[in-house]
Amino acid sequence: MDTSALVDWIRRFRDVTAEKRDWLTELDSAIGDADHGANMARGMDAVVAKLDAGVPATVDELLKTVGMTLVSSVGGASGPLYGTLFLRMGMAAGPVTELDAAALAGSLRAGLDGIVARGKAEAGDKTMFDAMAPAVDAFDSAISGGGDLAAAATAAAEAAAAGRDATEPLVARKGRASYLGERSAGHLDPGAASTTLLFESLAEASRDSS
Ligand code: ADP
Ligand code: MG
Repeated sequence: MDTSALVDWIRRFRDVTAEKRDWLTELDSAIGDADHGANMARGMDAVVAKLDAGVPATVDELLKTVGMTLVSSVGGASGPLYGTLFLRMGMAAGPVTELDAAALAGSLRAGLDGIVARGKAEAGDKTMFDAMAPAVDAFDSAISGGGDLAAAATAAAEAAAAGRDATEPLVARKGRASYLGERSAGHLDPGAASTTLLFESLAEASRDSS
């Protein structure tokens, strides 16, 4: 993926967060403070506005711009967490103009590690980690098995959706939802839902770029 394909991914994610804003908010109203849709839509609008003003020439600068904008424009927990994902992805990518499937896998893995370093989430805590970790694992296995970028991103999106669905019965152990204790069970995690949209956008962008 070159920088324009990455921008296509980011734009698709902005479009789908706007489209699904009410659903993300509804999920967050059940176990949080009903702002996840607004947080993601506002953050991604700010990102796209920044990119409309000029797209950085290298992958690291592009992803850094995305991450910094999310950190500075989103107040909720999700801003710094998604911000860290993109910042770490950029640091891992380096000053290149294109990422092949293996480089994107390494970049996504570094981003996931950054989220864990920042939020300390573990599997089953009912957070975005529960969609993102299986997605990154599926991306890696698809590539190890000889799959191309589009196949890996499609496998990642499917794994994210399965991880998102598996958050429903869980009791939250991190973030605002954990204040509810047992009452957090029976609802999807909003961050796992937005993470699935992120990987579905990536799958669409990679199918179009190949
Ligand atoms: P806030 O919780 O501050 O209102 P959002 O509603 O935008 O922020 O985001 C909530 C989402 O953030 C949760 O659904 C969860 O997926 C994610 N989240 C919260 N805390 C953590 C954490 N420590 N690690 C990973 N993800 C987290
Ligand atoms: Mg919230």
